[in-house]
Amino acid sequence: MNASLSRLISHYSLKLRKEYLPSRKPAGHIPPKSWIEPDHVLGKEGHALVVILPTVGCYWALTAGGCSMCGYIYDGVLSTPPPTLILEYFKLAYEKAASLSYPMSVKIFTSGSFFDEREVPKLARDEILRFLSYETKVEEVIVESRPEFVTEEAVNDAINVLRGKRLTVAIGLETTNDKVRSLINKGFSLSDFKATLETLKRLEAGVKVYLLVKPPFLRETEAIFDVENSIRQLSKMNVDAISLNPCTVHKGTFVELLWKRGDYRPPWLWSLVKIILDVHGEIDATITCAPTASGHPRGPHNCGLCDRGIDTALKRFSVTQNIKQLKNLNCKCKLQWKLYCQEELISQ
Ligand code: SF4
Ligand SMILES: [Zn+2]
Repeated sequence: MNASLSRLISHYSLKLRKEYLPSRKPAGHIPPKSWIEPDHVLGKEGHALVVILPTVGCYWALTAGGCSMCGYIYDGVLSTPPPTLILEYFKLAYEKAASLSYPMSVKIFTSGSFFDEREVPKLARDEILRFLSYETKVEEVIVESRPEFVTEEAVNDAINVLRGKRLTVAIGLETTNDKVRSLINKGFSLSDFKATLETLKRLEAGVKVYLLVKPPFLRETEAIFDVENSIRQLSKMNVDAISLNPCTVHKGTFVELLWKRGDYRPPWLWSLVKIILDVHGEIDATITCAPTASGHPRGPHNCGLCDRGIDTALKRFSVTQNIKQLKNLNCKCKLQWKLYCQEELISQ
């Protein structure tokens, strides 16, 4: 059942990619995006510089349709820019960090995998990391990658170039449940992730895991259960940080097809609060949740009145790790959320 659903998602996603991808621009026509945000930097309150490098993007999205909720491939360009231009882009983006002080992290995203050399050639990767190795206020460098590119050689090289700064690799595992992951068309298994985790731990790199809150086809309560279960399992595996990513409806994705038909609703913000309150105190890993598009129909939302307050509380919790930020939050729609969860269970 799940295998055929995965094939179906892949089929529709590939069709959507064909329709939307031609609008991508040639290399060099899109500058990098970057911004500064508060961050929890290795146990301390600090800031992160987030840089999105425009590369050719995720091969999984290009060749297999990619993950059902992911539209990041449309942020990419037709081919990866040459290493010198990537480095130039990075340095330009880094200028935004001029006003920041210690401790800061640098998050380098590519709408795909930092360790896939089709996206970031090794020369560009080395030069970016070498540049950061001389920046005293930078304590941690976080990059994203699918597991198949996290090789011993690539990680070792990166650690050596960084000369003692912490390298953290973020992986979009989405869930520890292989059946649920197949509903996302992720294309790798928990055992693939475990092998990568083992490599990263052996080399003393940090490991951050993204969990998707409410993949398509899961009811709200099932999604809550799936994420809580995943957090508990990941904590036992000693991952360093877990980022809860509430599903948002990106343009040109399979999830958008469902959403337009009325068959998908992004998670309630109450569900995010519940998950963190339920697992807090049981686990050692840092938990963060910085939703995007909160309060919008395409993003996680409640009633419209309380969304901004809850979004702020989640983000404050993420930076401080102080659970008080999430206690005593209230709104009339909390009851509506509880009824929604119950009715959804009864009606199917
Ligand atoms: S979520 Fe990650 S692996 Fe999946 S398509 Fe997007 S970039 Fe690729
Ligand atoms: Zn409300």
